[in-house]
Amino acid sequence: MGVGRLIVITGPSGVGKGTLLRSLLARHPALRLSLSATTRSPRPGEVDGVNYRFITRPDFERMVAHGEFLEWAEFAGNCYGTPRASVEELLQRGEWVVLEIELEGARQIRKSFPSAYRIFILPPSLEELESRIRGRGQDSDDAIAKRLQRAKAEIDAANEFDIQIINDDFDSTLVRLEEAVFATAAMV
Ligand code: ADP
Ligand code: 5GP
Repeated sequence: MGVGRLIVITGPSGVGKGTLLRSLLARHPALRLSLSATTRSPRPGEVDGVNYRFITRPDFERMVAHGEFLEWAEFAGNCYGTPRASVEELLQRGEWVVLEIELEGARQIRKSFPSAYRIFILPPSLEELESRIRGRGQDSDDAIAKRLQRAKAEIDAANEFDIQIINDDFDSTLVRLEEAVFATAAMV
C-alpha cells in the first residue's frame, strides 16, 4: 500500500476554510478530513466527534505530555491539536488526509512532514474578513477581536505556503482549491 498524501489548509478565522472544505469533501468523499481536538466550547450546532473532539484543558495537556498530537497550538485562548495516531494510520493506508489548522500548527507540520502540501486561503480584504466573521454570528465580540488580531499575523505569513488562494467568489475559489489539491497527485 502506498503512502498517502498530507494536505494542510490554513488561513485566518472567518476566511471560509470550513465552508470550502465542506463543499470539497462533498465532491470528493475519498478525501479524509482529520478531526482535531480542542479545549474551545462548542458553538451552537457543533457536535462532539463531528466538528471537533471537545475536551478539557487537563485532558489536552495529558495528550500533549504523551506525545499524542502531530501538532498543536494555542489560538485565541484555546488549544487545538491534530491527533497523531489517526492521521498516521490513514496515511499508512494510502489515504489523502486534509488538516485544517492555524499557522503555528502548519509550521510544525512543515518540519515534521516536509512533503505535506500547504495551501493558504486569503480574504479579499480585512474588511471583508471582519464582515464574514460577524456575519457567521457565532463568536463573542472578544473572540472576534482576538481572531482579527491574529488574522493580520497569519496573512503576513501567507508566502511561507506552497500556494495562496484568495477566497473572493466562492464557486471559483472552490474550483481553484480543487485544482490545487489534485495537482498534488502529480507530485507523489
Ligand atoms: P473559517 O472556517 O475559515 O473560520 P467559515 O467557513 O466559517 O470560515 O466562513 C465564515 C463565513 O464566511 C461563513 O458565514 C461563510 O458562509 C462565509 N463565506 C465563506 N466563503 C465566502 C465567500 N467566498 N464569499 C462570501 N462569504 C463567504
Ligand atoms: P475555530 O475556533 O474557528 O474553529 O478555529 C480557530 C483556528 O484553529 C482556525 O484557524 C482553525 O484552522 C484552527 N485549528 C482547528 N483545528 C486545529 C488543529 O488541530 N491544530 C491547529 N494548530 N489549529 C487548528
